[in-house]
Amino acid sequence: MRGTGARDILTEASGALAVERPGLFVLHWPDADRAGHEHGWMTPAYATAAHELDAMLGDLVEMLALEDSQTLLIALADHGGGGVVATDHESDHPADRTIPIILAGYGVEPGEIRLPATLVDVPATVLAAFGFRASNVRGPFVADSWTGGGCRRGVMAGALAEW
Ligand SMILES: [Zn+2]
Repeated sequence: MRGTGARDILTEASGALAVERPGLFVLHWPDADRAGHEHGWMTPAYATAAHELDAMLGDLVEMLALEDSQTLLIALADHGGGGVVATDHESDHPADRTIPIILAGYGVEPGEIRLPATLVDVPATVLAAFGFRASNVRGPFVADSWTGGGCRRGVMAGALAEW
């Protein structure tokens, strides 16, 4: 999907999101990352970008109709930032190594993700949503019975360690 920010990208993706199911959609929204690298994490520019992402996430949730049993939304950053250097994320500072994540939909146990969890657990969660079980990972975050009936639906939020 093309676009310079979340709003453009979601607009471009909206047609496909409405008809191409089941499937896997990966939408990269660069707004907060770009603001963090250019202006610094937790700056007013970063806050503006974060508010835009929040609004677009709300629009995406409305589009997805998370009430069905075939939809899982995973929203996360790829890294933290601003721990030691305002516009960087390369240190071991917790602000650089901690990544926010939200999961919503079928098979998601409401509550918080309990550490330790890392980015590696995210692909395992995606595989589980398609009915595959990955080995050598701690995930997935969704219930094993994701593709079956009787599973809970909810929102889970938390933080991942980068490594
Ligand atoms: Zn980045």
